[in-house]
Amino acid sequence: MSNVKFYKNQDLPLELHKVRIVQKLHLVPIERRLAALKEAGFNTFGLSTNDVFLDMITDSGVNAMSDNQLAAMMQADDAYAGSQSFVRMQKAVEDVLGKRYLLPVHQGRAAENVLARTFIKPGDVVPMNYHFTTTLAHILEVGGSIVELVSDNALELHSDNPFKGNMDIDKLVAFIEETGVEKIPFIRMEASTNLIGGQPFSVRNMLDVRQVADKYGLMLVLDASLLGENAFLVKQREKEWAENSMGDILKMITGLADIVYFSARKLSSSRGGGICTNRHELYQKMEVMIPLFEGFLTYGGMSVREIEAIAVGLYETLDETMISQSPTFIKYLVETADAKGIPMVTPAGVLGAHVNAMEFCDHLRQDEYPAGALAAAFFLCSGVRGMERGTVSSVRDEAGNEVLSDAELLRLAVPRRVFTLSQINYVIDRLEWLHDNRKLIGGLRWTYEPRVLRFFMGKLEPTSNWPHRLMEKFREDFGDSL
Ligand SMILES: *Cc1c(COP(=O)(O)O)cnc(C)c1O
Repeated sequence: MSNVKFYKNQDLPLELHKVRIVQKLHLVPIERRLAALKEAGFNTFGLSTNDVFLDMITDSGVNAMSDNQLAAMMQADDAYAGSQSFVRMQKAVEDVLGKRYLLPVHQGRAAENVLARTFIKPGDVVPMNYHFTTTLAHILEVGGSIVELVSDNALELHSDNPFKGNMDIDKLVAFIEETGVEKIPFIRMEASTNLIGGQPFSVRNMLDVRQVADKYGLMLVLDASLLGENAFLVKQREKEWAENSMGDILKMITGLADIVYFSARKLSSSRGGGICTNRHELYQKMEVMIPLFEGFLTYGGMSVREIEAIAVGLYETLDETMISQSPTFIKYLVETADAKGIPMVTPAGVLGAHVNAMEFCDHLRQDEYPAGALAAAFFLCSGVRGMERGTVSSVRDEAGNEVLSDAELLRLAVPRRVFTLSQINYVIDRLEWLHDNRKLIGGLRWTYEPRVLRFFMGKLEPTSNWPHRLMEKFREDFGDSL
């Protein structure tokens, strides 16, 4: 499946599913989009879906469900304790991820809360390939900190490095030697590093990290939220694994971690998550947190219907035709836009296409939030809602100074089996128009800035009336009806 060509003379992806339930979309006129942006504080999180045409803000909890998942949801076993739905999820976790003991949680960050409270004490440092926003927030909340150890070239946005998510092994060893194992609660590997463009790590790299963990007696924790797609890219990009099944690759990777946790919102369902391990003593250490924060041990804050959907969804991650849909559409989007001179993060990763906003808006300073401005401008000209992944998504240091992000990205998420190829072409067309008119994009500044996870609730405003000028130009080119 990985390298199938569907067309004789071109390399286009093909939908390998049919659409049986549809939802009407609204493409509201540009004046309404501008008004909506103002109401939202120029933060795409503040928009209502009534004003959004294509919702590409995230892949979280919005993947299309399969007929088999929906069928399973109808057979769910309602019970506070001892539900058979949970038994089915346990079985799926064991079959697909190879771990026997499962703690259910209501979503990925809840797993991070449990891990942080159980294993991290003040002053601890967690080495990782790269952080995710909620991971960092939970580690900071318990007095710990993080260090990111991807190779220097992982942050080169336009590159042909197939595994930018790899941990730099020399950096990891040097860090452990300097810090001392007593201050390191665990090593964390994130599959398909979300914040640097959904970039995978290789199996080879995971093996090397495991070797270091063994040498120093450290625990290895895997964030498997985007593991299915990481495994798919391993199959495509790592020669030794090209002939293996998705199941082999998934089990190989999870087998190297002491603890695996995941957000089922990304992996297979609309909500939920889990923490799993084969080490009973680790399971017992974390167990007490579940009734405290999540719910009883056999539902963990999820409905039994969601638990059923997760169980079926886990088995579906073994199906390459299902997993391949989003990465192949992203690859098409990235490569087509790149060929038009739009600065994209390459190689194409998973979960979405990423636009390099620093280069797109090279006339803006980084403290004018180019990625936030680009997200707003793109919504204005297209009705497509993307997400800022840059300094707005970062946090200030203790002195209150802005910490400029490594990269300023506009992320356009491509949830699984939700969009058609013509919708992707519309995205490319509007990106091209905006790129031609990029000098009209101006900066943003805060009007309301919360202390924690400010990118969710924060509000901003344009530093000039640039959104109006952009709207005027749009009307010149497209008329008044769009
Ligand atoms: C989304 C995500 C999380 C958090 O999961 P939620 O279900 O949104 O709480 C953690 N890690 C990674 C890599 C993610 O992509």
